[in-house]
Amino acid sequence: MSENTPGTDSLLRAAAKLIASSRYLTAFSGAGISVESGIPPFRGPGGVWEKYDPEILDLDYFRAHPEKSWPAIRDLFTVFLGTGDRPPVRPNRAHDVLAAWERQGRLKCTITQNIDGLHAAAGSRSLVEFHGHCRTMTCLDCGRQLPLTAETVRDPVPRCSCGGLFKPDFVFFGEGIPAAAMEDAEHAALHTDCMILVGTSGVVYPAAAIPPLAKRHGATIIEINPVPSDYTPRITDLFLPLKAAPAFDRLAALLTA
Ligand SMILES: [Zn+2]
Repeated sequence: MSENTPGTDSLLRAAAKLIASSRYLTAFSGAGISVESGIPPFRGPGGVWEKYDPEILDLDYFRAHPEKSWPAIRDLFTVFLGTGDRPPVRPNRAHDVLAAWERQGRLKCTITQNIDGLHAAAGSRSLVEFHGHCRTMTCLDCGRQLPLTAETVRDPVPRCSCGGLFKPDFVFFGEGIPAAAMEDAEHAALHTDCMILVGTSGVVYPAAAIPPLAKRHGATIIEINPVPSDYTPRITDLFLPLKAAPAFDRLAALLTA
């Protein structure tokens, strides 16, 4: 870092200028955007993968041992839904600002890798949930879909009336990205002139390939992360060293000033 590194204020003003002049603004989010909503990151200390082997969310393993996978699945999504004395998680200022920008016509599309549903809860509609979500589950045999609630997953292994196994509608390991999500994400990457990366470190593929695709097609990349990521030296044009919620709060203020 040189002594002339601009301060955070001037970086925020530069980002606000890029956002204001964009004609096809998009956002690409990862787990970091939800940390301030109280969702623990899956990776790292205290994460879900310290408690469970990722194998439990492998599709083949799930088919063979649903009674082992379902307790972990229940654990995962009860964090989102809230249980007992824990309230459901709520969108934070970053989710809210993105949804507001979409309503104002400023933001074309949000692509998220998260399955927590917080962008949808905040009101984002032009939303690509790249890894699916936790709102519903689908029978692996007949395709029947049910809402995923405390009630519908009461049985140790929730089964359809046809006898088939219910699987939550988020993407398991060993499972392809839903075709529509892949198409919509690529469409956004090919058309955007400015993409805001937020709370994502760029290590989970194929999602991680979306921002570089946008960059190759001429997009300016703004990155919001507390610390630099794999993306920072490769594709980022403007790095904001901030957590998601305060960064979006300040950008929203600059853009309405
Ligand atoms: Zn069925």
